[in-house]
Amino acid sequence: MNIHEYQARELLQKFGVATPRGKVASTPEEAEQVARELGDVAEPGYPPGVKRVDLVVKAQIHAGGRGKGTFTNGFKGGVHVCKSPSEARELAAKMLGQTLVTHQTGPAGRVVNKVLVAESADIAREIYFAILLDRASAAPLIVASTEGGVEIETVAANSPEKIIRERVDPLAGLQAFQTRKLAKQLKFELPQSKAVAKLFDGLYRAFIACDCSMVEVNPLVVTTKGEVLALDAKFNFDDNALYRHPEIAAMRDIAEEDPREVEASKHGLNYIGLDGNIACLVNGAGLAMATMDIIKFYGGSPANFLDVGGGATEEQVTEAFKILIADKNVKAILVNIFGGIMRCDVIAQGIINAMKTVHLPVPLVVRLEGTNVDAGKKLIAESGLAVIAADDLADAAQKAVKAASSKSQTPNPKQYSANPKIQNPSSKQYSK
Ligand code: GDP
Ligand code: MN
Repeated sequence: MNIHEYQARELLQKFGVATPRGKVASTPEEAEQVARELGDVAEPGYPPGVKRVDLVVKAQIHAGGRGKGTFTNGFKGGVHVCKSPSEARELAAKMLGQTLVTHQTGPAGRVVNKVLVAESADIAREIYFAILLDRASAAPLIVASTEGGVEIETVAANSPEKIIRERVDPLAGLQAFQTRKLAKQLKFELPQSKAVAKLFDGLYRAFIACDCSMVEVNPLVVTTKGEVLALDAKFNFDDNALYRHPEIAAMRDIAEEDPREVEASKHGLNYIGLDGNIACLVNGAGLAMATMDIIKFYGGSPANFLDVGGGATEEQVTEAFKILIADKNVKAILVNIFGGIMRCDVIAQGIINAMKTVHLPVPLVVRLEGTNVDAGKKLIAESGLAVIAADDLADAAQKAVKAASSKSQTPNPKQYSANPKIQNPSSKQYSK
């Protein structure tokens, strides 16, 4: 799971990591209001009554590269510095509701629903600092560079020697000598060492306490006054540990996620959307991979895979079908189940029930193997449903590829869609 920058800043503050003041806004008026509140705190050195603060307006999407991004309306940049609340309002108006394309969003971009309005930092230099879980050393790894900022990818590609790596012993935690070493390598000055130690320590504690797979601060800045601040922060959380962190799970923004994946997770199903045309309903990630490989092998292309897991119920299987056919690219469905803990007859009953409530506009290929396979096959055979039965993985894949490429697809007129939310529009003619 990912969170927005404004949420990352809130989280970091809880761990004592210094970030600039700011607040999120969803409308241009709100952005102006936030900017006013920020300006109400007079900058030191200004006479009483004179309020001045530089501001920054930042598009909030679950992707980096905003600074160098472009909106589809032509407006350049998802990060803008400005001087007054009215300018903040104008900038927010240009970003909110618009689609921002960055090198991380793909060409489709992301719609900006919120902006962060914050006090702008007067940047002297930008540093890259990240903590991630390194598989090779089976430990947290700090990756840092003096060359932080929007060009970090280029630095990593062209001057890999400028990337510093420091492994942290997971039992001992981040040690003071490591912090001192990093501070020196990152060219911090002696008076900054206390602030730097506090910041690194806070980041490391956040990484561990929140079960992160990555915390990335880019840029970590030194201001012209010598302060050290985390300016942009990105968190990745281990989804399997989210149950331990309800307060983090509550930060989830489903507007940033694939609606099909959101629907699937509501029903305890794992769904991954892809861009082919054969939907795959499988149990277990290993079988999912094998199924996709063999579809590719026979010249087809998977539209997704939906893993019903080891203990799916009939209801879950029904929901799974609804999600699969909601994708208009799907031209055939391949059910590939190896019954272990999951029984084939439960899957079969789920398929039959699903067919009663969901109009299936595409051919369905079913391959069952394992526990209660005979009972499962019998249920399907006796149901009278138009199911293409397959014997093994290769047979199933070939049949699915063929079904997906054949043009004449005759839906069963007796079936109708019971779920108006995700029904196929073409099924309306069959509604009762
Ligand atoms: P990203 O492009 O999505 O990673 O967004 P960042 O928040 O990292 O911003 C990109 C760049 O904009 C940074 O590297 C900074 O150079 C600049 N920037 C971001 N925030 C501020 C700010 O508060 N003040 C100033 N002057 N520049 C900023
Ligand atoms: Mn950044």
